[in-house]
Amino acid sequence: MSRPDWQPLEYRTFKHKNPKMEFFCPLCGTKRAFHSSPRLSVKNYFQLTLCSVIAGAIFYPLMGNRSYFIFFIFWALFEAAVRMNFRKEIPCPHCGFDASWYKKDVKIARKIVQEFWADKRPNADMKEKLEEFDEEGISIKNK
Ligand SMILES: [Zn+2]
Repeated sequence: MSRPDWQPLEYRTFKHKNPKMEFFCPLCGTKRAFHSSPRLSVKNYFQLTLCSVIAGAIFYPLMGNRSYFIFFIFWALFEAAVRMNFRKEIPCPHCGFDASWYKKDVKIARKIVQEFWADKRPNADMKEKLEEFDEEGISIKNK
């Protein structure tokens, strides 16, 4: 079934300031934006270097030059933190669609959406989209 026009769940969303990426939710069609990216920024690398220099200097009396290997520990921590931060932004706040789960396991993604709507009442259009999602999943619609 094809829909002729853009029919999002929410027409009026928050205005996004300097988004990293703008897109439309594949399930509900609402305009969305990411503010973080899963990669370290220049600022993050600067913080990372600063943290490891300070921590390296603190442990220098104990471990000598080896204390600067703490850089790699900080690098791993920063990498994990940035990814976790990005993952928090993935689920759609309007319909509960989680693209990262959809890519990994469609059944779990369906369950998450069902749980999201369990105590809410979708409008007729959204109900139709949810039924379609339960049966077929996401399909890219032609305009
Ligand atoms: Zn959505």
